[in-house]
Amino acid sequence: QNIKMHFPLKKGIFSRKENFVKAVDGVSFAVKAGETLSIVGESGCGKSTTGRVLMKLLDPTEGRIIFEGEDITDFSADKIRPYRKEFQMIFQDPYASLNPRLTVKEIIEEPLIVHNLEKSKRQERVIELLEVVGLNKYHANRYPHEFSGGQRQRIGIARALAVNPKLIIADEPVSALDVSIQSQILNLLKDLQAEFNLTYLFIAHDLSVVEHISDRVAVMYLGRIVELTDRDRLFKHPLHPYTKALLSAVPIPDPSAKKNRIVLTGDIPSAANPPSGCTFHTRCPFAKDVCVETTPEYRDYGDNHFVACHFAEELEG
Ligand code: SF4
Ligand code: MG
Repeated sequence: QNIKMHFPLKKGIFSRKENFVKAVDGVSFAVKAGETLSIVGESGCGKSTTGRVLMKLLDPTEGRIIFEGEDITDFSADKIRPYRKEFQMIFQDPYASLNPRLTVKEIIEEPLIVHNLEKSKRQERVIELLEVVGLNKYHANRYPHEFSGGQRQRIGIARALAVNPKLIIADEPVSALDVSIQSQILNLLKDLQAEFNLTYLFIAHDLSVVEHISDRVAVMYLGRIVELTDRDRLFKHPLHPYTKALLSAVPIPDPSAKKNRIVLTGDIPSAANPPSGCTFHTRCPFAKDVCVETTPEYRDYGDNHFVACHFAEELEG
């Protein structure tokens, strides 16, 4: 609820004012049990930072984190321990996130040790997990460098599943993989969700990646959610110009649908010095004076379709 994560910048010689990078600047959403909520946006929009705040790897500057009705924002390291196993993370680069000096068995066993599973049961559990992700016991004593990118991501997924978490935060889990491997991993994640009743927060920079896996999608821009709704509605009736621009970048089979395309120009502005009003106004083809002056309210346009744009209704269609 209203999560803000502002990182202080070093004061410059010429500026006396303390400055902050507003990586996340007032983000609220709920992930429902059993669903996949995706957060999509360009790099630097604050989506990974949001994931890290939810994982309690970062203390937010402001806002609350509620897990199953309990406010865990200020829990001490001791108090949070039993909750830790409920949230696990899958990372973008499966190679960087696997310790090269450990065998696959040791990597997957680590969370089991942290959460006190007896030694006699660990071996069996590791093999079970390898099979669940499409590997087998012969992979257990090998090292990460002996595997392909897709296999390494399977190892990362096995590790995340080891302690039966409720929520998995997957931070660009397929971005580093070849397109042909991406769909295999996405299908695996979908199957595992059904089998183990998992809830996913899926972070991606590309809408096409999340289309098949998501129940709902949140689009982030410069530290804020600009649109959030059901997957089908977002893809068929996007209201925010930024969402429309992201969708314009998704390849489509029908070239006649090209007419409503929005091509984004310019880079994403710095989160240390975000534009006034609607922070998208520097790149929005529909921007008017009011957009420069006033921050649009984030509101429900009906049926839980949330949008932050002064002209969302007028630009519809
Ligand atoms: Fe564009 Fe204005 Fe809407 Fe922002 S509020 S997205 S600048 S039309
Ligand atoms: Mg990231």
